[in-house]
Amino acid sequence: MSGTALRISDALVRRIQAHGVETYPHECCGALLGNDSEAGRETLDLVPLANRRNDSPRNRFEVTPEDVRMAEKKAKDLKLEVIGWYHSHPDAPARPSEFDREHAWPWYSYIIVSVQQREPRDTKSWRLRDDRAAYDPEAIESVAQSASI
Ligand SMILES: [Zn+2]
Repeated sequence: MSGTALRISDALVRRIQAHGVETYPHECCGALLGNDSEAGRETLDLVPLANRRNDSPRNRFEVTPEDVRMAEKKAKDLKLEVIGWYHSHPDAPARPSEFDREHAWPWYSYIIVSVQQREPRDTKSWRLRDDRAAYDPEAIESVAQSASI
């Protein structure tokens, strides 16, 4: 799995960052839609989701089975697949928390945007190892424009 990279346009990264600013000081979250093939993994669209954690929206996000179904349906309509998930970390670094690790699945790309004082900072992508013991960083390869959509 090492050496993999997630391709995403600057425009989509800005949309993720804007979502994080909009929901600040709470976390935002959403699905990453795109393609995964031998040629690589590319993000082509986003599905913003509601953060359903009422107990601690500031530092917890959780993707529910309904969110997964909704995101997968949207992806299918666009002839894409759900390749990952994004969320924000208000006033915290763009690294997965222990809660994130316990609630994540292998294979997916997890983009985390750090939002400090309402300003988007680092945006990083992570992949959970197959044994779920830890996350590995995934390089973000910026592309000027998405190939489609
Ligand atoms: Zn998190």
